[in-house]
Amino acid sequence: MKELFEPDFPLSELTSIGLGGNAKYLYRVRNVDELIEAIKFARSEKMRFFILGGGSNIVFSDTGFDGLVIKNEVKGFECDESIDRADLRVSSGELWDEVVERAVGLSLGGIECMSGIPGTVGATPVQNVGAYGQEVSDVIKSVSALDLKTYELVSFDNRECGFGYRTSRFKCADNGRYFIAGVEFVLPKLNKVSPEYASLKESLDECGTDFESLDRQSKLSVLRSEVLRIRKNKSMVLDSSDPDTRSCGSFFVNPVLEKDRFTALCESYSGLSDAPARAENGFVKIPSAWLIEAAGFRKGYTENGVGISNSHSLALVNRGGSTAGLIMLSEKIKTAVTGKFGIMLENEPQFIP
Ligand SMILES: Cc1cc2nc3c(=O)[nH]c(=O)nc-3n(C[C@H](O)[C@H](O)[C@H](O)COP(=O)(O)OP(=O)(O)OC[C@H]3O[C@@H](n4cnc5c(N)ncnc54)[C@H](O)[C@@H]3O)c2cc1C
Repeated sequence: MKELFEPDFPLSELTSIGLGGNAKYLYRVRNVDELIEAIKFARSEKMRFFILGGGSNIVFSDTGFDGLVIKNEVKGFECDESIDRADLRVSSGELWDEVVERAVGLSLGGIECMSGIPGTVGATPVQNVGAYGQEVSDVIKSVSALDLKTYELVSFDNRECGFGYRTSRFKCADNGRYFIAGVEFVLPKLNKVSPEYASLKESLDECGTDFESLDRQSKLSVLRSEVLRIRKNKSMVLDSSDPDTRSCGSFFVNPVLEKDRFTALCESYSGLSDAPARAENGFVKIPSAWLIEAAGFRKGYTENGVGISNSHSLALVNRGGSTAGLIMLSEKIKTAVTGKFGIMLENEPQFIP
C-alpha cells in the first residue's frame, strides 16, 4: 500500500492559502474502497490521517502533517429529472462550482448564487457553505458518509445533518468521524428566480439589467455571471493572476448575537451601534469585515508576509509568509475587535496542527 503514497508532499500546493509544510504522505483516493484500505493501513502503522478536499478552508502548520493526507478525488454525477425538480446525486470529490455551472445549464435553481465558491462537493455540508442569500442546507436532501470508526456507509437526511450558520454536525460533534462520500441535492425547476440579496439586486440594477423580462434560463445565467463578477472584484474566486487570491476566503465567521446582548454591548462600547447589523428572529448578525475595519485594520495591511486582502477586509492573505505569522495576525485582529467592541471573532478555516 505504502508504495502508492506520495512521500513528503508540500501541503502549500494543496491549499488555496499556499501555506504549510510537507505531508509525510499524500494519497489520492478515487473511490470509497481505496479510502478504507488507506485508513486501515494508516491505523495499522499508528499513523494519523486527514481528509482533504480542495484545501480552500484549511491551514496546515509550518511543520507540515506527520501522517497521511488523503485527497478526495471520488467523482460521479447523476441527475434524475421530474416535471418540477431534479435530484442530483454527486460524489464528494466533484468540484462544487462545476456542479453549479451544470445545474444552471440544466435550468435548475437554488444554487446559482453560490457560484464561484472553491472546493469540493463533499466539504459543502461540513460548514454549510453559503453566499448571496443561499445556503447548501436549503437544497441538500441527504448526505451519504462512511463512518470512519466502523467502516459502515450511513446516510443522514437534511434534519440529521445539524445544519446551522456555517456549521453542521460534521464540523462540530462529529468532526473527523465521517468521510462524506456523496451529497444528494433537490433542485427546483419551476421556482421563482430572483436576486434575494440586497447587494446583488443593487449590482444588477446598476448594470441596467431588466431582470424581470428575462426567461428562466437567462435569469439563472445572469445571476451566476453577476455573482462571479462581484466575487472576482473581491478576490473571492481562485485566480492565479490575482495577488490577493492566496486566502481561505472569509477568515472570520460573522458573529451572530442575541438581540438583547447586542443592545447591551452597544450601550457599553461606543461606535458599535453604527455597525450595519442585520436583525432576524431575535438575533443580530454583525459583519466581521466592519468590525475589523472599525478596530483599525485596513485593506492591504501586511505584517510578516501575511495581511488583509486589498479587496476584502474579511480575507487574510499569504504574501510570502507563514502559518505562524497568520495565526499571530488573526489573534491580533481578534484581540483588537474584542477590546473595542466586546465581541470575540471566530475563525472560519480549520487549523491543522
Ligand atoms: C476565495 C475563497 C472564497 C470562498 N468563499 C466562500 C463562500 O462564499 N462561502 C462559504 O461558505 N465558503 C467560502 N469559502 C470557503 C471554502 O471554499 C468552503 O468552505 C469549501 O466548502 C471548502 O471546500 P474544500 O473542498 O476546499 O474543503 P477543505 O478545505 O479541503 O476541507 C475543509 C474541511 O472539510 C473537511 N472535509 C472536506 N471534504 C470532506 C469529506 N469528503 N468528508 C468529510 N470531511 C471533509 C476537511 O477535513 C476539513 O475539515 C471560500 C474560500 C476561498 C478560498
